[in-house]
Amino acid sequence: MSLQNQTISFLERKDYCSFIDGTYLDKSNNQTIALHNPSDGEIFAQFECANSDQVDQAVLSSARAFKSDPWAKISPAQREAILHKLADSLEKELQVLAELIALENGKLIAQAQSEIKGAIATFRYYAGWCTKLDGETLDISLKQKPGKQNFAFTRREPVGVVAAIVPWNFPISIASWKLAPALAAGCTVVLKPSEQTPLSSLYMAELFVRVGLPKGVLNVVIGDGQTGAALTQHSGINKITFTGSTEVGKIIGKAAMENLTDLSLELGGKSPAIVFADANIKEAANGIALGIYRNSGQVCVAGSRAYVEASIMDTFVASLKSEVDKMKISDAFDPDAGLGPLSSEAHLNKVDSYITKSQEEGASLIFGGKRLEKDGYYIQATALAINSNNNCAATDEIFGPVLVIIPFNSTEEAINLANDTRYGLSSTVWTNDINKAMECVDRLEAGWVFVNGPARSDPHFPIGGYKQSGIGKELGKVGIYTYTKIKSVNIIY
Ligand code: NAD
Repeated sequence: MSLQNQTISFLERKDYCSFIDGTYLDKSNNQTIALHNPSDGEIFAQFECANSDQVDQAVLSSARAFKSDPWAKISPAQREAILHKLADSLEKELQVLAELIALENGKLIAQAQSEIKGAIATFRYYAGWCTKLDGETLDISLKQKPGKQNFAFTRREPVGVVAAIVPWNFPISIASWKLAPALAAGCTVVLKPSEQTPLSSLYMAELFVRVGLPKGVLNVVIGDGQTGAALTQHSGINKITFTGSTEVGKIIGKAAMENLTDLSLELGGKSPAIVFADANIKEAANGIALGIYRNSGQVCVAGSRAYVEASIMDTFVASLKSEVDKMKISDAFDPDAGLGPLSSEAHLNKVDSYITKSQEEGASLIFGGKRLEKDGYYIQATALAINSNNNCAATDEIFGPVLVIIPFNSTEEAINLANDTRYGLSSTVWTNDINKAMECVDRLEAGWVFVNGPARSDPHFPIGGYKQSGIGKELGKVGIYTYTKIKSVNIIY
């Protein structure tokens, strides 16, 4: 693997602390966490977790930056220019950031590059929104004084200091879904990346300050759940935006209610893919393979339950197998790799144990299921066959390259099986019959429905779960409104 010079010099530091007010904190005696390269299991860096005093320091810095010059006074057009500058800087340093992500979480380098491209698109999209936030004039009927008129209107104001807590699977793109709209709305942000992927966020924050983002507008506190908890419990936070597991989302929801802090939650999923007999089976197999095996299945919207019309089951499985046979399992920096390692040894053990447990509960292995006998955290692309949802592989979010395949015999049965879950993040439907497609669109309980394509994000396409997959939406117009509050004004004249 040959790395960019900037990546090498950033990695030479080996020891990292939080980035607050445009500078790195000095080392103290806090807990440290080692970072392992998932491609070979080697430790390549370590970092110190921010304690509650340091979290406090970050929140105060962001609160100061929110209220003072230059951030508080800049015009929307100036904010737009800054967001474009941030996008330019990501473009310039795309390869460095992609390399850091590949090292931190084992993502294949090409997929890491497209993650950064997605973040750039998100910053540019929200740059455009800076100048388009408006309120309404309202013709209200209130009569406060005889003979007087009302001039009533609403205006959108930034919510203030945002705590953005993100997972490890898309460290920069998910951070950009929060950062770009929050900054576009005029907020300031304390970002807490996952303990598995702190370096890419630190590098990005340092880069943004270098190209002119005022100090304190973006602070990065690094650490595990304790650092995250200190942040979500802080009374100086005006909004929490969290992406991660449903379990942690519930804990954060309770913490938010202690201070009545505004909250958005993007949580886990167990998304269905329905394949009808009239579908283009080859395309469906290709899309479903992409949906579940991209990023080694560590994707919140991964279609991990395939419901396949019984009459085409054998053809579909053969087609899926031939897609998987094309995927070389290799390290994150191998340009020919189709499937990389899982993010950590603990996660590999979890995925592996689910494959075993599912078979103990009656599933039969169609292909895959084995760890690779080499350094690093590798497991084969796996498919399991079951006959009903009554199996852990159909109910639990495994978050790995594991697909369960279940037959169905009618549209009604397929939709009922697909909706039979506590989650409601995404879904895909594969059919050439518009009536079946529209029935699924109407009845699937999920924030996303894709017909004849795998789930993919776009800055103008809101994402957000139904049921226990979350509260609120990110991206699109609604994705910036979530960082604003509406003030209603009535002038009596
Ligand atoms: P996680 O919930 O374990 O951790 C997410 C973040 O929360 C990390 O930064 C972690 O340090 C922090 N955290 C942990 N405990 C905390 C606490 N008590 N208080 C505050 N912060 C705390 O999730 P993960 O393993 O990093 O990511 C995988 C999960 O994320 C999966 O469930 C996946 O579906 C979900 N996810 C959802 C989306 C979406 O858009 N809905 C996108 C990506 C990932």
